[in-house]
Amino acid sequence: MRIGAHVDQVDPLAEALARGADLAQFFLGDPQGWKAPVVAYAGGAAALRADAEAAGVDLYVHSPYVINVATSNNRIRIPSRKLLAQHATLAAEIGAKGLVVHGGHVLKDDDPEGGFDNWAKTLERFEPPLPILIENTAGGGNAMARHLDRIARLWEVLDGRCSVSTMGSVGFCLDTCHAHAGGEDLAGIVDRVKAVTGRVDLVHANDSRDTFDSGADRHANLGSGSIDGDDIVAVVAAAGAPVVCETPGGAAGQGADITFLRDRLPT
Ligand SMILES: [Zn+2]
Repeated sequence: MRIGAHVDQVDPLAEALARGADLAQFFLGDPQGWKAPVVAYAGGAAALRADAEAAGVDLYVHSPYVINVATSNNRIRIPSRKLLAQHATLAAEIGAKGLVVHGGHVLKDDDPEGGFDNWAKTLERFEPPLPILIENTAGGGNAMARHLDRIARLWEVLDGRCSVSTMGSVGFCLDTCHAHAGGEDLAGIVDRVKAVTGRVDLVHANDSRDTFDSGADRHANLGSGSIDGDDIVAVVAAAGAPVVCETPGGAAGQGADITFLRDRLPT
C-alpha cells in the first residue's frame, strides 16, 4: 500500500524522502487564491515528472479550497470551473495520479439539486486529463459531499449525465477526519461509499481535533485526536487505496503518522 503525506510544493520529492513517503500530495500555488496554478519545483513540470518517476514517488495535486463548482453564485462557479480545468491540465503535465477537489456546497436556502446539476455541467464540458477525485467535506452549509445520501445523489446525477469515459476519470477521495467530524460513522464507511460511487481512489488519513458531527475541519496526528486510531487503520485497510496523511508536525509529525499506519496495517 502506497502511503504518503501532503507536503510543501517547492520540493515535494525531498519532502517525501524526509518522511519515508511513497507519494506526495501538494498544491500548485496558493490554496486560498484564484491565481492560475504554477509548478514551484526547480526545472518546472517536466523536471518534476521525470524526477518523481526516477524516485518512485507518486504525485497527487490538491486543488485550491476556493473552488466550488456546485454553487449557484456565478461569480464563484464560473472561475471555479476555469481554475479546476487549469489545475487538471497542469497536474496531468507533472504526471500526477489524481487531482483532489472538495465537493463544494450550495447557498443555505438553495435546493441541493442545483448543486448536483452544476457538478454535471462542469464535467459534461470537459474531458478530465487525469482522475478528478471528489473529496468528502466535514462541514460547509448545504454541502454536496458531507453525508452519504448527498454523495449517492451526486454520483447518480453524474452517472446519468456524463460520458462513460468521463465517469472513468471521476473518483472519490475519502477523508477520515471529514467523515468523522461531518457525522458519518467510520465503521463500514468504505463499503457504504463504494456502494454509491463504486470506488475509493484515495484516502486522506487524518485524525480529528474535534468531536463526531462537530462540522469542524481541524486535522490531528493519528492517535492524538478524537478518532480511535484503529478505526482509521480499518478504513485504510478496507479501501486498499493510496493514502495521504494531511496532518500537522512537518516531516517528524507526518513521518510518525506514516509509520503509525505501516505498523498497524496487515501485511
Ligand atoms: Zn483531506
